[in-house]
Amino acid sequence: MKIALFGSPGVGKGTYAAKLEAIYHMPHIATGDLFRAEIKQQTELGKKAKEYIDKGALVPDEITTGMLKNRLDKEDCQNGFLLDGFPRTVKQAEALEGITTLDAIINYFADDEVIIQRLSGRRLCKKDGSIYHITNVPPKQENICDKCSGELYQRDDDKPEAIKERLEVYSTQTKPVLEYYQTKGIVHRVDANTSISEPNNHIIEDTQKILDNLKEE
Ligand code: ADP
Repeated sequence: MKIALFGSPGVGKGTYAAKLEAIYHMPHIATGDLFRAEIKQQTELGKKAKEYIDKGALVPDEITTGMLKNRLDKEDCQNGFLLDGFPRTVKQAEALEGITTLDAIINYFADDEVIIQRLSGRRLCKKDGSIYHITNVPPKQENICDKCSGELYQRDDDKPEAIKERLEVYSTQTKPVLEYYQTKGIVHRVDANTSISEPNNHIIEDTQKILDNLKEE
């Protein structure tokens, strides 16, 4: 299955993708993670991308699409993948058509207040990139990753000015991608308003129902 997870920054795509990756054994390919790895290694691509990311802007399509194509060409993606954070512009969606064909888009949605609360409380592990939230998904020990004991940090683009810009970019540049795929009839909606830490949330179960149906088709 070739799946793209869609939704506003902060809706929780990375968190859901990590859970789905463990259930379906599909590689989780997040363009944001690929960029953060390039930045950490101080590559030329990373240096260029950082200028845009820190402002909350999108990295230019040519850079992003080239980087993603290299990743999708690898052996582990040949039987399917979970894309997270791509495509984010209609141009990227069109470029993806030349690389592969998606089976489904899972569109996670949540109210604006929920999104802002999730983004401002998000913390990441410096070592393995695991995602936490100071109140919704706190680590067992403050500021320490449960899995690898790495130190947690707040992304520069999770600070208020960049958050505002990212939400603006989402509504002007990324939302039209949904319309692009709606005409192809492959968009499925999942309500992500309830926090994943609440016992009554159905986010992963609802996604599984969609993916299991696809598998049977
Ligand atoms: P979030 O979904 O919370 O915004 P990501 O980790 O997916 O976080 O992305 C962080 C940043 O990386 C984005 O704000 C953008 O600058 C850049 N980025 C990620 N994916 C793309 C993409 N497909 N096209 C352009 N820029 C991207």
